[in-house]
Amino acid sequence: MNQSRGLFQQPPNAFADTPDGSRKTCRSCRQPILWAVTDRQALMPIDVDPDPKHGNISTYVKDGTRHAVVLAKSKAAAMRAAKQPLHVAHFSTCPHAANWRRR
Ligand SMILES: [Zn+2]
Repeated sequence: MNQSRGLFQQPPNAFADTPDGSRKTCRSCRQPILWAVTDRQALMPIDVDPDPKHGNISTYVKDGTRHAVVLAKSKAAAMRAAKQPLHVAHFSTCPHAANWRRR
């Protein structure tokens, strides 16, 4: 088998442009993701780009840590209507999510 890894060039600091430096890529699909802490103190990967149609997670950075707030459906819809950027959990968009859930 041919090792073609060199084709996937990743500049070291390509995703280090957030104030808290928490921007990373998904280990499965290499999509850029953000790690945020939920109100249950769990780390959650979310898509970097806000989703104007399905977004239900609002994020904010406090003391250098990004936090995620998962919104109720009606509240999320209201915020999207008000053009607030809402994100989606990377679990819901990752093409490899089935592999993750097994852990
Ligand atoms: Zn992924």
